[in-house]
Amino acid sequence: MSYNIAIDGPAGAGKSTIAKLVAKKKGYIYVDTGAMYRAMALFMLKESVELDRVDLIAEKSQSADISIRYEDGVQCVFLNGQNVNGMIRTEDVSAAASKTSVVPEVRKKLTALQKKLAAEQDVVMDGRDIGTKVLPNADLKIFLTASVEVRAKRRYDELCAKGERCNLEKIQEEIAERDHRDMTRDEAPLVQAEDAILVDSSDMTIEQVADKILSYVK
Ligand code: C5P
Repeated sequence: MSYNIAIDGPAGAGKSTIAKLVAKKKGYIYVDTGAMYRAMALFMLKESVELDRVDLIAEKSQSADISIRYEDGVQCVFLNGQNVNGMIRTEDVSAAASKTSVVPEVRKKLTALQKKLAAEQDVVMDGRDIGTKVLPNADLKIFLTASVEVRAKRRYDELCAKGERCNLEKIQEEIAERDHRDMTRDEAPLVQAEDAILVDSSDMTIEQVADKILSYVK
């Protein structure tokens, strides 16, 4: 049986940084499910699908082939055969992903892929619905959060470092909007699983959060 760690939480809580670190320390595979939703959103943007057209998104999603491969330990997301890692980290794709991810057909398709990956190997998987829907029987569930101010500041620093647009207020607004959409949708909303451990990273360093999570790993 594979060992599965689920890490859920709002945007910018540090899930991917922490999940990668925990995975590395344990020798597990890190699965970034947000990247899959981002690839799906990128596909819809490329196809000029209106993002409020649930019916069109559902139909179009059937022709998006999304898969994951690992190159030098880095997760690469392929969209219809093309590695799209370099195209999915923009704010436009972030916003689009939280719109297209409300569509049940999109979730069904990506959830199946995620379940398969976790059944095959030991994973640390991060997202919004991992502990509640994707891996309800995960060995360890973490709900990682931080105040919206701290999360916005982290995203701001990240974008500035990459030379992208840097307006702290706007980023905070976008994060709050995205959280709201993710938490209030009908399908697999962002919610802490009953058996998840709550970790607030607002005043913790990356190492402290990783150590805390590692202390719970069997
Ligand atoms: O985690 P990340 O910010 O990359 O996720 C982008 C968007 O994808 C989220 O805002 C959310 O709408 C969606 N998502 C999801 N379920 C997941 C992971 C991400 O709905 N398991």
